Amino acid sequence: MVEADPRRSIPRTDHLLALPEVAAARDRLGEATIRALIADAQDSARSGKLPVAEVTPTVIAAVTTRSTSSLTPVLNATGIIVHTNLGRAPLSPAAQQAVSDAAGYVDVEMDLESGKRSKRGVGAKAALLRACPAAEDALVVNNGAAALLLAVTALRGSGDAADSTSPGRSGPGTTVPDEIVVSRGELVEIGAGFRLPDLMVTTGARLREVGTTNRTHLADYAAAIGPATASLLKVHTSNFRVDGFTAEASLPELRGLADEHGLPLIADLGSGLLTPDPVLPNEPDIDTALRDGADVVIVSGDKLLGGPQAGLILGRTGAVERIARHPLARAMRTDKLTLAAIEATIAGASNPVHDALHLDPVDLRRRTDRLAEAVGGTVVVHEGRVGGGGAPGVPLPGWALELPEEFAEPLRLGDPAVVARVHQGVCLVDLRCVPETSDDALADAIRAAADRLGGTGAAADRGQGGPGITETATQTVTNDRLGEGT
Ligand SMILES: *Cc1c(COP(=O)(O)O)cnc(C)c1O
Repeated sequence: MVEADPRRSIPRTDHLLALPEVAAARDRLGEATIRALIADAQDSARSGKLPVAEVTPTVIAAVTTRSTSSLTPVLNATGIIVHTNLGRAPLSPAAQQAVSDAAGYVDVEMDLESGKRSKRGVGAKAALLRACPAAEDALVVNNGAAALLLAVTALRGSGDAADSTSPGRSGPGTTVPDEIVVSRGELVEIGAGFRLPDLMVTTGARLREVGTTNRTHLADYAAAIGPATASLLKVHTSNFRVDGFTAEASLPELRGLADEHGLPLIADLGSGLLTPDPVLPNEPDIDTALRDGADVVIVSGDKLLGGPQAGLILGRTGAVERIARHPLARAMRTDKLTLAAIEATIAGASNPVHDALHLDPVDLRRRTDRLAEAVGGTVVVHEGRVGGGGAPGVPLPGWALELPEEFAEPLRLGDPAVVARVHQGVCLVDLRCVPETSDDALADAIRAAADRLGGTGAAADRGQGGPGITETATQTVTNDRLGEGT
């Protein structure tokens, strides 16, 4: 006797679709999503991975818990503030509100008084110009790489002061200058294998590399300038540092040279502080770079500025206008959500990136001690990092809770998901980038991780010799990982 194959009694799609829980889920989920969840459960049962009796409860659980976004919010417990793998800057409450307000119909390109079409992005531009007094004009595009591409493309062919009618630089019989003069020490790979030099040559421009990896002088630029020169470019080496026998030409020096030859001077600052920040003395800021003579500066919106992904171009009126008028600018146009978030980030009170950067180590210590009291583990000295292409090598003094390494995975897979730092065989929980209001949720997540690992109570203390804090302030863990590139 052959028993009936139980798989033949797998609930049919019609039956599952008619379940009241599935019908109710239609308010949130699209038909295709619901059908895919049903098919998943049926397939699992067919292949024997799921008992047939579990199909209906599995489908109900799937449609009730399924979110329409596959992105999982995480608590960033790495101590790295601008973590590219974790979405860089978390938006400020003001920016989040602005994004939500702009999500529907919004007057992004209409003057409500006259009912006529208006310019896009005027609010974001005004906020940028207020924050950066040295800037005459500003343009927001999709990201820093796009901003660089656009600037080197649009400012090719003549100096900023000169327009296309100036003699000698364009017109019939003359070739359009196509060489970007840049230091060999500034040819940056920004992350995930993307290299700024590769990006720039896609515009048809040629890079005229000058100087050496460690030392480039003004004379190197001067020697390279000729009829083919399109622009001078200075790139902030945002994600690495060259120490020792080094030299570079400063922006004021390059300005002089640019003026002599009627060339535009472009500065890619990467991270983009609006104005100097005493915590990061070596990090260039937009205002100073413009005062130092750059025609345009380029920064990312989601690094030290603490806003959404965007590329900001600030500078002299003539140069920014030329960039804005270039046909490529339309292909890099930002959406209303980004414009809303940029404006609110700048106009608003503070933002999480700024707060994490300026966190008082005493406060961090107090919170870390409290966490250790709640869940066990050891409080250790731990340096935070700016990360993501900002202030390489600048340690931010602080603390972390050290747990056994095996905590890292259940923490990542928990709810809330917690991304801690795994370093030299331990799991380090750094509260710098965790909102203080989430400290209790983080403690619960650590307890849940301990439970999943099969421990009880102060499981974080396994191997640490008892509950409570073990004072090990002498133990320093340097955070030498600078994020995952930019
Ligand atoms: C980050 C960075 C970029 C790229 O900016 P995205 O906003 O990531 O596109 C370009 N140049 C420098 C120097 C950077 O640090």
